[in-house]
Amino acid sequence: MKTLICTIPGNFEYGLGAIPTLQPGHAIIKIKKVGICGTDFHAFEGTQPYFDYPRILGHELAGEIIALDDVPGFKEGDTVTVIPYENCGHCVACRAGKPNCCEHIAVFGVHKDGGMVDYLAVPGRLLVHGAGLTEEQLAMVEPLSIGAHGIRRAAVQQGEYVLIMGAGPIGLAAMEMARIAGATVIATDIREVRLQFVKNTLGIPHALLANGDVATQLRTITGGDLPTVVIDATGNQQAINNGIRYLAHGGRYVLIGLQKEMLMFSHPEFHKRETTLMSSRNATRADFEEVIRCIKQGLVSPEKYITHRIKFGDVKHVFPSLLDPRNEVIKAVVDM
Ligand SMILES: [Zn+2]
Ligand SMILES: [Zn+2]
Repeated sequence: MKTLICTIPGNFEYGLGAIPTLQPGHAIIKIKKVGICGTDFHAFEGTQPYFDYPRILGHELAGEIIALDDVPGFKEGDTVTVIPYENCGHCVACRAGKPNCCEHIAVFGVHKDGGMVDYLAVPGRLLVHGAGLTEEQLAMVEPLSIGAHGIRRAAVQQGEYVLIMGAGPIGLAAMEMARIAGATVIATDIREVRLQFVKNTLGIPHALLANGDVATQLRTITGGDLPTVVIDATGNQQAINNGIRYLAHGGRYVLIGLQKEMLMFSHPEFHKRETTLMSSRNATRADFEEVIRCIKQGLVSPEKYITHRIKFGDVKHVFPSLLDPRNEVIKAVVDM
């Protein structure tokens, strides 16, 4: 079968691999679509910490089961997506029902080879039914679930003001899930084109330039209160450090984005708010199922995020251009 290998930062090579053999409790998936995300860009650029090469990328997957062995509830021909976080099942987080932050997590396309292949072997417990969704929608369920998990962590309530910093795919997902939860969503980004997308395509009422006077505008929008939830989806150190100042007293600050330096904010600013600070890592099956429900009900249309569609055979040559901000990529999806 055909594979695409990131051999070293900055280089892809097509290869020929053996079709995986069926193991007990596993399914073999014919991969149909693969979404490309920030993690893949960082891997290609060599800025993804603890990333080993060579590696086959791809963790946002849509496929069809072609073979399976003892996977209750699934059959050959089923359309599926994959929860791409393989957990150990016995660490303290797994025992607490939090496989998304397993101590020994292995993410497909990051810690182990992913879905830029014709066929992928997947443990049955990581499969999610995708009937009723298009292949493109199905490949978008994983990034939407990351946003959904952040909103669930924040326990967003009807009528709250929720600030979401960063209008990349994860930020967009968080905005939509916050809106569905009944919040009034405020978006910030440094790119005007993204703010236009947020307003015109997602119908988010407030979209602010991150390098403007955000604090004053937030006071105006919220009637002086500031948002009771602030979500970071930038993964930018400066944005995260500043974000605490945009949070209402008694509010929750949730970090979905990740960067590799220290978090630093004023202890008095943090303390006087009695801030609840939390990270949000990956997603759980409940998030995947909630996102699929929202897509089926027409509450979210993730195919609107797709700006670039690429044939598998073109990925090697096209990929570097996706990193160029002039190409205004929101979401690229590979047709396998
Ligand atoms: Zn991703
Ligand atoms: Zn574990």
